[in-house]
Parts: sequence; structure tokens; C-alpha cells
Amino acid sequence: MGLEEKLPAGIALTTLENVVGYMRKASIWPATFGLACCAIEMMAVGTPYYDLARFGMERFAATPRQADLMIVAGRVSQKMAPVVRQVYDQMANPKWVISMGVCASSGGMFNNYAIVQGVDHIIPVDIYLPGCPPRPEMLLNAIIELHEQIQSSKLGVNREAAARAAEQAALRATPTEQMAPTHDHESLVGRNLLA
Ligand code: SF4
Repeated sequence: MGLEEKLPAGIALTTLENVVGYMRKASIWPATFGLACCAIEMMAVGTPYYDLARFGMERFAATPRQADLMIVAGRVSQKMAPVVRQVYDQMANPKWVISMGVCASSGGMFNNYAIVQGVDHIIPVDIYLPGCPPRPEMLLNAIIELHEQIQSSKLGVNREAAARAAEQAALRATPTEQMAPTHDHESLVGRNLLA
């Protein structure tokens, strides 16, 4: 923002963070962007029943330059990947991404060379939304979670400190191969799990 860089950590910067966070979360415009079946559920949140207008978000921008939220709704094909990246690059800063559905998040059941195995290979993702397809209520929940993230996001020196703390936490995390298994596969061998 400019001003945020000038303020030292303290009550003035915290107050600014609260005001900026509130204004940002209450003025999000999604980009018009649907890729597959998940997009039908995304469109449903704009209907009166789900009422996305409660959040001032009913205006899906037809140009990325007037959008700051990309809801990646559906599988991303290799052919579409450069287009997704271009639309993201053209969106206004700061901007956020919700990966809607298992296909966008990981390729889902399309484990093949034609589908990008997770949209985070080409753009940064803020919220991963599971499901095939996620219900409109789940998308609304993801949007509310994103609002909370935006409201609590840091500015200036506080942002630098938060980034350093996150990096240290990631370095201290237990590697996946050293984690204890969450399922006892031995006891499932030979059992009919549908019985
Ligand atoms: S997650 Fe399911 S509904 Fe969504 S794009 Fe993939 S197949 Fe379609």
C-alpha cells in the first residue's frame, strides 16, 4: 500500500491492518471462470436461494482486471493451464484463489497426462475445497474462511515477521515419511469393507 511500509509495528499498524482487512474482505469480486461440472455448483451460489449477494460478491467480473478472486471450478486441462495463468496474472492485486473440487485441487480421478494434477502447479492457492462436486454451501463456507484469512492478514513489518514465522514452522515440521500411520492396514486385510 505504501503507507503500511512506513509504519513501525505497534497499535497504528494493527489498526490499519484491521481497517484494510475489513475493506478488502467486504469488496471481493470473483472472476467469471468455470472449467467443468463444479462450475454449475459455483453458479448456484449466485441464485437467490444461496444469496452470494450477502457478501457483496454477486458481481462476477467479466474482465480479470476488475476481479480479485479466482474460483477454479473444475478440472484444469494442460491446454487450459496457460490461459488460467494468464487470467490470474491479469487480475488486480492483492488477489486470492479458491481451488474448488478434487479435480482442481489434485487432478481427482483424472490421473492422466491430459489434466494438471493440481492447479497449485500453476498458480498459488489460498483455500482447497474438497468434494466432487462440493455443494454450494461448501463453497460459501470456503468464502467465509477466506474472508477470515483476509481480515487477519498482516501488513508491513508484521507481514515480514509472519512470513518468517511460517517458514520456521515449515522447517520444524515432521517429514511425511516420519509421520505415524493414521490407519492400521493389517487389520483390514481380507475383510469385506462393504459388509
Ligand atoms: S470434482 Fe467432480 S464435479 Fe468437480 S470438475 Fe471434477 S468431476 Fe466435475
